[in-house]
Amino acid sequence: MQREASLNGKGYSDRDERRILDALGRGLLKEFPNPDRAGCPGSDVLKRIAFREMPLAEAEKWLDHLTSCSPCYRDFSELQAGYRHRRMQTVLAIAASILIVVGVAGWALFFKQKGPPVVQTAVLDLRNRSVPRGGEANPGEQPLEVSRQVKRLNVYLPLGSSEGPYELRIASTGGSAVLATSGVASLKDGATSIQADADLSSVSSGQYVFQVRRPNSEWNSYALILR
Ligand SMILES: [Zn+2]
Repeated sequence: MQREASLNGKGYSDRDERRILDALGRGLLKEFPNPDRAGCPGSDVLKRIAFREMPLAEAEKWLDHLTSCSPCYRDFSELQAGYRHRRMQTVLAIAASILIVVGVAGWALFFKQKGPPVVQTAVLDLRNRSVPRGGEANPGEQPLEVSRQVKRLNVYLPLGSSEGPYELRIASTGGSAVLATSGVASLKDGATSIQADADLSSVSSGQYVFQVRRPNSEWNSYALILR
């Protein structure tokens, strides 16, 4: 019974098995000295038994020796402790990797809910708008809308606009500029566009005029609502 207990995890829990081995071991470690190691199977066999790599049928013939040779029993106990330790480390490593996956998923979820720290960009599409003349916005057109949270403007210029430097401005309806910036327009996929930094956080919401021009030309104006 004890023999199987040391090898067969099915019949005994690891705890039972350890209890039996401990009880046996207290005597076994001392009472069967074998200084010449007569008839010892060698460490490879002990290791294969301790690591449960050897079929029980094959291990059977060594069991009498193991329970009657203190040096072998001691070696076997040490190997088995090492096996348990390694197995525990594997279990812990698996548990740790599960925690890491859960942690990363939680972290991703947290940031998804919170929203990524992206720079808010407003797209102002002037491509299909009629080209206004002078400082007045075309009264028949829907105003552009921009959030005051934006930090960057991406302006699609009216179709046919040339590349090169442009000045951009947001002015009150009275005509004073609350934002003045500039950028270089470039043609990409048939559209001419300008990107420019724009900090509108200190500008109050309301009705404004968005203006764009080539340097030293007349402003083209579009009604704009800052939200
Ligand atoms: Zn031995």
